[in-house]
Amino acid sequence: MMYFDDFQISNDIKKAIKDMGFEAPSPIQEKVIPVILEGGDVIGQAQTGTGKTAAFGIPLLNKVTNAPYVQSIILTPTRELAIQVAGELQKLSKHKRTRTLPIYGGQSIGHQIRALKQGVHVVIGTPGRVLDHLRRKTLKLDRVHTVVLDEADEMLDMGFVEDIESILKEVNTDRQTLLFSATMPNEIMKLSRKYMNQPKVVSINKGEVTAPSINQVYFKVLEKNKLESLCRIIDSEDIELGIIFCRTKKGVAELTEALQARGYMADGLHGDLTQMQRDSVMKKFRDTTIEFLIATDVAARGIDVENVTHVINYDIPQDPESYVHRIGRTGRAGRKGLALTLVTPREMKHLRSIESEIKMSLPSQEIPSIEDVVEK
Ligand code: ADP
Ligand code: MG
Repeated sequence: MMYFDDFQISNDIKKAIKDMGFEAPSPIQEKVIPVILEGGDVIGQAQTGTGKTAAFGIPLLNKVTNAPYVQSIILTPTRELAIQVAGELQKLSKHKRTRTLPIYGGQSIGHQIRALKQGVHVVIGTPGRVLDHLRRKTLKLDRVHTVVLDEADEMLDMGFVEDIESILKEVNTDRQTLLFSATMPNEIMKLSRKYMNQPKVVSINKGEVTAPSINQVYFKVLEKNKLESLCRIIDSEDIELGIIFCRTKKGVAELTEALQARGYMADGLHGDLTQMQRDSVMKKFRDTTIEFLIATDVAARGIDVENVTHVINYDIPQDPESYVHRIGRTGRAGRKGLALTLVTPREMKHLRSIESEIKMSLPSQEIPSIEDVVEK
């Protein structure tokens, strides 16, 4: 067993870790922090919810000084994630007063330019908006010593590879580059060969793709009974917060309306909403004003909300990696989570390819009968 005190990091960071209530490093933190502290390039792979943010955040903040310029840039796939990572770094550095700033699309660029002018040590941003600032020369990366590509698989999935490459070209080559990802598709290895310098690979639970704290089952349903089946399932489950996934934006809108009409506290999150609408939905979910968040894959990327007890795949994902990402929204930080997947007869092939990706077969469960639901 290892403790945070065992790491060669400054006392102000150790103190902040205590304040956050972290008792011991998670497995990826234990393994990767000492390697990052050595100073070379590192690739870290571990399932979602295993504490990758602090795994790079702690050694990165240990290196950042109070010198008044941008010393580190962290790229994330979504605005929500940029905000989340900035929040975690702020907590970790609260006793050393590092200035962190999230920059992302959808927020006024003027506001970000003013904030950058006041002096920032660590920028956390989405690739598109970071590039925008570089072109306007409102952000300079010439003195950056550490670059982090966070949730790299999701960034590549979203088509950010060219933006990432353009950004990396703006940073000194004698930098330290860190790459974190839940999965390691080929494109990531390609990117790392091109832009990283003899990276050390630190990986946790190689064969095990999904966290053991997530219980996974599926339900056989008929297309025409899908909504009714979903309602019976959620009525018979003890749900604190649930994320329900649909394949399309239209599906999200329709299901949201149908559930609201039946009296469920539900709201939808999809790519057509404005940033303000998205923030408001996420706030309601975090505050538990709503119980269900209905979302597409893209809208839910990287979201880390505590106490998500259930992830429900109303539409089974067609690509197995997206299944892994979806269910990673529950079972965070070792808590118990339940992942429920509805499967129509036509979709059995998707279930099979998911099972082969996660290297286990999913047990099937009967849809609760109406009596089960009423009795509860
Ligand atoms: P990942 O990036 O691997 O998906 P996160 O960095 O978002 O995971 O961490 C998931 C949650 O676990 C966060 O709420 C984070 O604050 C918490 N966490 C991280 N490290 C620890 C730790 N050592 N002990 C307890 N909780 C932790
Ligand atoms: Mg993460």
